[in-house]
Amino acid sequence: MDWSAVAGTLVYKNNNLYLNIIVKKDAPKQDRYTEKEVLGIDRGINNILVCSNNQFFNSKKLKAIKGRYQYLKKMLQSKGTPSARRKLQKISSRERRFVTDTNHRLSKVIAESDFKVFAIEKLTRMNHKRLGKRFNRQLGNWSFRQFETFLEYKSEALGKKIMRVNPRYTSQKCSNCHKIHKSNRNGSWYSCNCGFQLHADLNASRNIADIGMSEISRLSVNQPNVMVRSQ
Ligand SMILES: [Zn+2]
Repeated sequence: MDWSAVAGTLVYKNNNLYLNIIVKKDAPKQDRYTEKEVLGIDRGINNILVCSNNQFFNSKKLKAIKGRYQYLKKMLQSKGTPSARRKLQKISSRERRFVTDTNHRLSKVIAESDFKVFAIEKLTRMNHKRLGKRFNRQLGNWSFRQFETFLEYKSEALGKKIMRVNPRYTSQKCSNCHKIHKSNRNGSWYSCNCGFQLHADLNASRNIADIGMSEISRLSVNQPNVMVRSQ
C-alpha cells in the first residue's frame, strides 16, 4: 500500500479486461554492506537456485510442469487446426504465467532473507552455452533474466542490492583452496586434490559469494569515510 500509482492501461484481450497499473516508490537509502551480508546464488538445472548458505531450490516439480507444457504444445503444433492454434495460444500464456509466478516467488524468498547483497553470475551467451541444450530441453528456456529483474527491484525496495559477477571459473574453482582445475566435476559432485568435496552447484555458489565479498571489501576500503561525526 505504500507504493503510489503513476500510470495505468486497460487492455482487452481474449474476452477479458486487464488493468495494468505501474506503481512507484523511492528505494530506501542503501546501507554500507558487510561481507557477511553477501549471498552467492548459482543457477542450474537440477536445482534452479543454489545459495551459498546451503539453501537449495530443487527444480523437480518445475521440470515436470514445464515438460507437460512442452508436450502439450508439441501435440497442438502438429495438429495445426484453428482450434488447436487457439488452444496453443492459451497454453503458451498459461505457461508464461507459471514462469512469472515462480520467478516472483523465488525472488521474494531471496530478497526477504537475512542477506543484503545478492551475488549472481552475469548472464552472458557463454554461460548459457555452459548450461547448454540439456537445460533448454528440461527447463524450456527458463527466463533467468526475468528472475534477475524481479530480484533486483524487490531487493532495491528493501534497501538491498544485487551484484553481477564475472562467471569465469566459478564452477571450476575449489571454494576451499581456491585452485582452478578443469575437470574435477564428477556428476553433481565437485572434488579437489586438497581433499575437499562438495555438491558442485554449492561449490559454485560459494565462489560467487567470494567474488561478491571481495568486491564489497574493495569498495569499503576505497570509500572515503564521510560518516565520521564530531562529538
Ligand atoms: Zn581444493
